[in-house]
Amino acid sequence: MSIYDKYEAVIGLEVHAQLATKSKAYSSDSTEYGVLPNTNVSPITLGHPGTLPKSNKKVIEYAVRLGLACKSNIREVNEYARKNYFYADLPKGYQITQDKTPICSGGYVLIKQADGSEKKINITRIHMEEDAGKSIHDIDPFDTLIDLNRAGVPLVEIVSEPDIRSGEEAYKYLTEIRKLVRYLEICDGNMEEGSLRCDANVSVRLKGAKEFGKRTEVKNMNSIRNVQRAIEYEIKRQIESIEKGEIITQDTRSFDAVAGTTFVLRSKEMANDYRYFPEPDLQPVIVSQEYIAKVKSTLPPLPNELYKKYVALGLSDYDAGVLTDSKELALYFEDIIAKTKNTKAAANWLTVQIKSYLNDNAFHISEFKITPERIAQLVDFIDTGKVSHTIAIQKIFPAMLDGTDKSPSQIAEENGWIQESNSDALTEYVKQAIAKYPDKVVEYKNGKTNLLGLFMGEVMKLSKGKADPKVTNELVKKMLEN
Ligand code: ADP
Ligand code: MG
Repeated sequence: MSIYDKYEAVIGLEVHAQLATKSKAYSSDSTEYGVLPNTNVSPITLGHPGTLPKSNKKVIEYAVRLGLACKSNIREVNEYARKNYFYADLPKGYQITQDKTPICSGGYVLIKQADGSEKKINITRIHMEEDAGKSIHDIDPFDTLIDLNRAGVPLVEIVSEPDIRSGEEAYKYLTEIRKLVRYLEICDGNMEEGSLRCDANVSVRLKGAKEFGKRTEVKNMNSIRNVQRAIEYEIKRQIESIEKGEIITQDTRSFDAVAGTTFVLRSKEMANDYRYFPEPDLQPVIVSQEYIAKVKSTLPPLPNELYKKYVALGLSDYDAGVLTDSKELALYFEDIIAKTKNTKAAANWLTVQIKSYLNDNAFHISEFKITPERIAQLVDFIDTGKVSHTIAIQKIFPAMLDGTDKSPSQIAEENGWIQESNSDALTEYVKQAIAKYPDKVVEYKNGKTNLLGLFMGEVMKLSKGKADPKVTNELVKKMLEN
């Protein structure tokens, strides 16, 4: 047994999601991304004397949406608090956040295990707060530049229980969170641009131990994959350190994505005392049961529900996963299966032909021109047996991609792609195929029945792919056995 097998990792994540509201959390300043630095900054954002914050209703709505999707308890009386600290990108000298009264508590996110079962990652709390500005260290060689456009942009912080046991589970949990905020349309979920950020709390303990080990907190991972890498590195580092007889100290560490390692940013002895106190300038926000019910009625279908629906309809776990990866794809699929009963074929068209067309052209499903209704018609048309699947893929689908507004059956008819099931014409092809290989006929009659494929192929060639495979199959057999 290696040293690593003796230990178990314990991980809890703190995820910040930037809410996609038009204006900031406590002022009407715009949240638009990518505009000139320090232009979305009013005296309220700067906390100048005499200014008063006002809470943005959309922030409450978005937090409630997330809470409902995570099956959290949603608090009625929501107070705000000031978290005080000094930093150049925090103009007010404090952050408005929630301390003892987070808007959501409890709830969970489900992740899928390798064996197909689900694991609950419990949520401790989700609270609302505001972002700080941005310190930019890499533009000017001598000075740090400050952009306050982000100061006051609303965030929710989602704190998980220490239920995660590996980097891979953290990866899955974050992927689910990202999917969820995107389905709910409350955050764009972009980790590279920082609209979704994650701090990972990591500790290890001997397997079977009751108590948690000392944890470190790792920051600065700009992708979900890097969160996994950082955690895996940190687990290994902590185990090796303990095995050497060292003591883990409760540090805040940073991930170096190039080296794949973590290094100490600050130790807990230097921890801030934030002197939380109730925000005197904001009234508590009351979230009534009626309000919660109203928000609930506007919730979209959620990825996990759709996933379960698709598996129940007979799709594979894999297909259900691909289809629910993005909301747009799932909704497109919903629209196809509203029009055809052949769910499996619909899923195939979407996950294979359509997806590879989108990939090849770097298109998003929202840019896809063929309507779900037309795809449903194509599925049903193939099921009538009038065209082969091959013709549909090789001829009809490309014709539809070319932007015609004709139905698949119209396209097939106009181009003469309707399948040959008329036995007179087929009989002729079958005769020719048999005449071509007299010795194979003998072999077939002597029991080499897998030669059927050869004759079938020949008929397909002669009919230019238009022979109905079912009818042809019967005909070839009948004539060979005569
Ligand atoms: P803080 O605010 O100081 O970061 P919290 O108590 O809010 O501390 O915990 C933050 C995160 O750390 C939570 O996600 C929690 O699950 C996780 N956590 C707490 N204890 C441990 C531990 N021993 N090992 C790993 N994660 C932990
Ligand atoms: Mg923390």
